[in-house]
Amino acid sequence: MGGFGSGPQHGGKTCTGDCRQIDVRRLAREGVLQPGRAVAWQWTRAGERVAAVDMQAEAGCLRLDYRYRIGEAWHDATCPVPLEWTACRYGGARVWFRCPACTRRVALLYIVRGLFACRHCHRLAYRCQREGAEDRAIRRAERIRARLQWQPGILNGEGWKPPGMRWCTFDRLRREHAALVARALASMAARLRPGRG
Ligand SMILES: [Zn+2]
Repeated sequence: MGGFGSGPQHGGKTCTGDCRQIDVRRLAREGVLQPGRAVAWQWTRAGERVAAVDMQAEAGCLRLDYRYRIGEAWHDATCPVPLEWTACRYGGARVWFRCPACTRRVALLYIVRGLFACRHCHRLAYRCQREGAEDRAIRRAERIRARLQWQPGILNGEGWKPPGMRWCTFDRLRREHAALVARALASMAARLRPGRG
């Protein structure tokens, strides 16, 4: 988070930072979680605004009204984030967000592609997306194998040029196939590496 700065906006403070996250401990320290308080926040990348949020504290909840940009298009969204307090061992209370996606108790929420969620949810989404890319690479490789009349299954290696196919076509398809297989295998290796994701 970039730090509160640049003076009041919408009756609150504005923060500009590169890192698109909100930290409940910091908001608590700054008094932002007191019901009735409202602050505005924005994120920039290379000096350009990419997301902005108005935060409004209610009893047990922080309401986020925000805008985010994907490409050139701006989108509006609202997300109420439940707050929860737990007792500390040596007295006092600690505040948490409940992740809007999985309800896990977390201190940080990240905005990625317009969604506020905890790092677990975003990592999961990232993994699904990566598996999607892997599946696509495998499907495309299998289509090329069918065209080349090679045995199905990307682990079965390469075959011969089918009769009647021009060499330049064969070489192009073989190169495409090799690139797709390399991509799928690299993605699989990353996914299967222990202790990751
Ligand atoms: Zn979550």
